[in-house]
Amino acid sequence: MDRGAFLERAREGAELIKMHIELGHTIRIVSHRDADGITAGAILARAVAREGGTFQLSIVKQVSEELIKDLAAEKHRIYVFSDLGSGSMGLIEKYLEGATVVVADHHPPEKESFSTESHVLVNPVPFGANSVRDLSGSGVAYFVAREMNEKNRDLAYIALVGAVGDMQEIDGTFHGMNMDIIEDGKGLGILEIRKELRLFGRESRPLRQMLAYSTNPEIPEVTGDERKAIEWLRAKGFDPDVRYWQLREEEKRKLHDALVIHLIKHGAPKEAIDRLIGDVVVSPLYPEGDPRHEAREFATLLNATGRLNAGTLGVAICLGDEDAYRKARKMLDDYKREQIEARKFIIQNWSMADEGEHAYVFYAGRSIRDTLVGIAANIAINAGLVDPEKPVVVLADSDEDESLVKGSARTTEKALAKGYHLGDALREVAEKLGGEGGGHAIAAGIRFPRDRIEEFIRLFNEALGRQLREGKSGEN
Ligand code: C5P
Ligand code: C5P
Ligand code: C5P
Ligand code: C5P
Ligand code: ZN
Repeated sequence: MDRGAFLERAREGAELIKMHIELGHTIRIVSHRDADGITAGAILARAVAREGGTFQLSIVKQVSEELIKDLAAEKHRIYVFSDLGSGSMGLIEKYLEGATVVVADHHPPEKESFSTESHVLVNPVPFGANSVRDLSGSGVAYFVAREMNEKNRDLAYIALVGAVGDMQEIDGTFHGMNMDIIEDGKGLGILEIRKELRLFGRESRPLRQMLAYSTNPEIPEVTGDERKAIEWLRAKGFDPDVRYWQLREEEKRKLHDALVIHLIKHGAPKEAIDRLIGDVVVSPLYPEGDPRHEAREFATLLNATGRLNAGTLGVAICLGDEDAYRKARKMLDDYKREQIEARKFIIQNWSMADEGEHAYVFYAGRSIRDTLVGIAANIAINAGLVDPEKPVVVLADSDEDESLVKGSARTTEKALAKGYHLGDALREVAEKLGGEGGGHAIAAGIRFPRDRIEEFIRLFNEALGRQLREGKSGEN
């Protein structure tokens, strides 16, 4: 990708924010509700505060026309969107015409740039980046912050926590401009990259939970069953109650070897084995054993806050608030437990899924919470319930509005190579169903009226079929 041109855009965004700070305007920040969005919001908030500015920050589930109208009614002079906004450029132009707008995002944008000078799109995709590997929303926010002030390099760890939350290193290593953030962080001595087991729980979970909770990849006969995890660990000579960070280097290696052999024996796909051990980000800013010491546990903690509409609590944690951290720890336990329950439900009920020519669609009703459908769709893939070349959608009743369903679509690199783009397909289908949809090629979301599920199944399969015929390349 063209890093120089991207950084030039980041500088334009940074200059606009600094100009409004100097004019004494409140910087209105709106960010996305997952770990990537929460860290992005925290980075921008810290950067504004560092320049002596004031900000007002909201963490939202998605952009809608109502949200933009409400924001416009607040009559701010400047709005900064992070980890969202690229799919709503038209709405932003329509309702926020008179204001300055900076969109710091990594989702495939509606168009390459805004048509007015007071609106700036800072997004790496038009410069050749892959939206799910090369930079996250938090990474974009980081580069804007770095252009505002070199001192903001001290936010590199928080930026990578967002990248890990978005699974940017899902194949085992970081790519693209994530590497630049790593270099900045290493230079300041605030983070370290290790080649370790890439599973949730390095710091605060005993090995028995680290393995039993592993859904990405799945560990055959161990995932979802803590008793079996204990047996497996004992048989290999490990104390199931010890934590990964407490293992000596040779013990870690022994555990890695045992897991790799186990996966091979059970015929796990090569991709699953490849991504089991790889880049793990740790930071000496926090003590060993603290979930914030390692990026995946930190990100999961933030996702747990966002899911309970406590995203601003997550922002406070990123800004170093110890009280906020203590409040959030309880949320993390429930969140992980619910993921394992969702996994059980989807495996037991998979026969209910509709298998079309191009996609599987599973409607979970109220049995899976609408914030867990993305994880459930990845679980269907990773647990081997589906043909990996066919995309998966999991639908659940919306928590907010019972007349709607929320859906998440997920797929694999193999399916993308055929030409699918899930974000484009869901955007198109949502328009026809009177809903909202969009996202990346490999991961996308939608909301639409619940009484139109049958129609959704037909339209989604048709849209994917058309993508193959038209030979769309699945880059982002
Ligand atoms: O996919 P999404 O970003 O919504 O996932 C949120 C979090 O859930 C991730 O940061 C990861 O820790 C966890 N996750 C998981 N197993 C999966 C997918 C995600 O534990 N299969
Ligand atoms: O909104 P946003 O960009 O933050 O989220 C990206 C989503 O894509 C996350 O839910 C993440 O877990 C998911 N993802 C995935 N597979 C990948 C990369 C990202 O499911 N290979
Ligand atoms: O490649 P494989 O079929 O094992 O992929 C299964 C899961 O891994 C899916 O959740 C897919 O989104 C994710 N994946 C990915 N990017 C890769 C490899 C796998 O997102 N490079
Ligand atoms: O909601 P879910 O986690 O399934 O979203 C997957 C990806 O699609 C995320 O990056 C999310 O921001 C994006 N998305 C979007 N527009 C929507 C819904 C989801 O860009 N309407
Ligand atoms: Zn993101």
